[in-house]
Amino acid sequence: MRRAFAVTLPKIEAEPLKSFISNRMCKCVVRNLPSSMKPFPFLLLAILIFLSPDARAAWNTKEIEGQDHVALEEVAAAFGMQPASKRKDPREIAYSGGAHLLIIKTGTREAIIDGVRHWLSYPIATSGGKPYVAVTDINCTLGPAMSPASVRQIGKVQTVVLDPGHGGHDKGGRSPYGYEKDYTLDMVNRIRKILEAKKVKCVQSRLSDFFVELAERPEMTKNYKDPIFVSIHFNSAEWRPSANGVEVYALPPLGSPTTGKAPDPILDRRKCSGNAKEPASFVLANTIHHTMLGKTGAFDRGVKRARYAVLRHCETPSVLIECGFVTNPQEAKGIHSSQWREKYAQAIADGIIAYMNLANAQKLPPRVWDYKRKSTDEFVWEE
Ligand SMILES: [Zn+2]
Repeated sequence: MRRAFAVTLPKIEAEPLKSFISNRMCKCVVRNLPSSMKPFPFLLLAILIFLSPDARAAWNTKEIEGQDHVALEEVAAAFGMQPASKRKDPREIAYSGGAHLLIIKTGTREAIIDGVRHWLSYPIATSGGKPYVAVTDINCTLGPAMSPASVRQIGKVQTVVLDPGHGGHDKGGRSPYGYEKDYTLDMVNRIRKILEAKKVKCVQSRLSDFFVELAERPEMTKNYKDPIFVSIHFNSAEWRPSANGVEVYALPPLGSPTTGKAPDPILDRRKCSGNAKEPASFVLANTIHHTMLGKTGAFDRGVKRARYAVLRHCETPSVLIECGFVTNPQEAKGIHSSQWREKYAQAIADGIIAYMNLANAQKLPPRVWDYKRKSTDEFVWEE
């Protein structure tokens, strides 16, 4: 069925692909190309002609398992991508071109977009032997990840509210060397110092070792002009000490499941204040994730979605960063060293600055390959 794109999902604050493409093409298609992917001028011209906004304003949708889907080849083409070389696993399909790289695995919610892992709301479906992606995932993940400048919910940023996770009686995770609550406060102090040196106004949800109620933490954003909210945590997985790496969370789109969970007809549809800024929150998460991976070399656990209280209650763009595992022997040692924390704090601060440059000056954020880090290339199990 052919259907107008904007009509498909009226409840979701999505950016029509029309504006993804027009923005992408006007502002950044050449400037933002990684050197390894610069197309020849004639190819670029062909893409520009093919992708004139009016030509791609509607999708050919197909309902699969109750969700509108679009053939992935159609979506890939809209972003200037062509099928790339075949991968060993026949369920994995790659597209590249137009400064982008997209790798999916059918039957899973995992997608490698422009070099970093993302978790979609719905699995990549197959119909007639072709892969299909849910319209929700085009609107809320693929589109904003590949064309962040076109997300209209991104407003100016004047204040960064930093939230050191846990505190007081709530110690958070525990490594052989210390508590998560102390590491998060130290990280926030470092991030703040780096940002303030660049004249960025910062405030903190706690300044020392005391507990602040979860709902109160995002509440303080209301006292400041044009804020974003960044919550800092460390991960724990006692049952699997090998678990390592970084992940950045944004709120899931309204009506969509959280990462690693099956759809929940009640919880997924519960409206919260964070919904209004969810697309901007995703771009903030995506921007910080690219920079963190690029600057630290950490394992890529992906941009994930969860309805954490601090994200649900936040009316401004908000993310929660899991900086590494206190339960992983190697990472726990790293986390305990001040050099390690300084490096990660610098990476997060740079990610925040990159988002502010996008929000305040329409400057596109760096991608992971701009830091000379190779794209994530392997698929992992969903968790
Ligand atoms: Zn935590």
